[in-house]
Amino acid sequence: MWKYYMPTAVFFGQGAIQKNTERFEEAGTKALLVTGQRSARVSGALHDVTRALTALGIPHSVFDEVEENPSFETVRQAASKMKKEDCDFVVAIGGGSPLDAGKAIAMLAANDGMSIEDLYGNPEQWQAFHTIAVPTTSGTGSEVTHFAVLTDDEGNKAGLSSRRNFPVTSFLDPSYTVTMNENVTTATALDALCHAVEGELLNAGRNPLISQLAKNSVAMIRDGLGAVISSPEDIQKRADLQYAAMLAGMVIAHTGTSVVHPAGYPLSVHKEVKHGLANAFFLVEVLRNVSRKEERRTNASIEPFASLEALESFLKSYGVYDHTLTITDEEAREWSEAIMKSPHYRRTPGTFTREFFETMYKKVGEK
Ligand code: NAP
Ligand code: ZN
Repeated sequence: MWKYYMPTAVFFGQGAIQKNTERFEEAGTKALLVTGQRSARVSGALHDVTRALTALGIPHSVFDEVEENPSFETVRQAASKMKKEDCDFVVAIGGGSPLDAGKAIAMLAANDGMSIEDLYGNPEQWQAFHTIAVPTTSGTGSEVTHFAVLTDDEGNKAGLSSRRNFPVTSFLDPSYTVTMNENVTTATALDALCHAVEGELLNAGRNPLISQLAKNSVAMIRDGLGAVISSPEDIQKRADLQYAAMLAGMVIAHTGTSVVHPAGYPLSVHKEVKHGLANAFFLVEVLRNVSRKEERRTNASIEPFASLEALESFLKSYGVYDHTLTITDEEAREWSEAIMKSPHYRRTPGTFTREFFETMYKKVGEK
């Protein structure tokens, strides 16, 4: 027996918003639009959303201060704005950061008297206002997941997971992803690749739907990323990457991510490495470790790559190992200890020690 649950209504393709504006009316009566500082505007997505809302007579306010690796404090401020302005649904527009922040804002604002820390206690029991997601990157898959990954006041990242965090609707219009530069395009695509591979590593073939989604996603990213880099304005090629990232999101909505993700978190929070590049740095070494005991399972997770070496040279060609960071022994030790306490560590096959991650952190500056 296997099961799969993903309650988000997905509208995919150019003009997805304009052709389906009734979804806004169904979501609520006043919207808080949650965005980062620039991309929602330059991508054209904010314009399309506000035009649709205005035509429908739905009032809205904008919170446009979501930073990369969104913080608890940002979520607090936006939730308080949401309450003060009597908004009853969120439209989150941008990469994974505004999408995740939007989900958390919709939950915090719906639970009077609760702090964000309280929500982490037992997230499934809390209410949430509806969220509509409009991704402008092709990476996190947040548009089809129930995770909101936030950074707490001490700089630690953790996912707030609740079924009520699934967006009620996601509009995937590939034209919004065209303005991503090469670095963001690459980092986000490699994040999606990690999701597909990590997800299938955890799934281990048990759910055939997940295996199929993961394999399709890996193949499309392997074959499609280079095509987008050489023709960044080709909407069909952009659509292929967006589709692949969505599939990988559907994978992790079922499986979660592996120890690769918490290994990457400190590099993005403290060293400004893009989320996808941080994960990709750890992917092959983690898989090599698992492969010592579970070779078939590992090989199946990277299909259609024929070997770990083939995956490694693909990642290398996108500069995944080109960092020049300084990481102190104390940082390496502290971050490695945090990984050993994460739920990702407990669900990842293989034998990992604190020393394994410390050695990896020391390598970040060396390769
Ligand atoms: P991001 O942090 O949302 O954005 C990265 C950068 O790309 C920002 O400077 C952003 O600009 C810019 N950008 C976004 N879309 C653009 C566009 N169309 N054109 C030009 N620039 C654009 O990147 P992300 O990789 O999508 O999200 C990473 C976050 O998602 C991390 O916090 C990660 O932990 C989380 N995550 C969540 C899940 C999940 O399931 N929920 C899964 C994996 C990762 P602006 O600041 O102006 O918007
Ligand atoms: Zn990720």
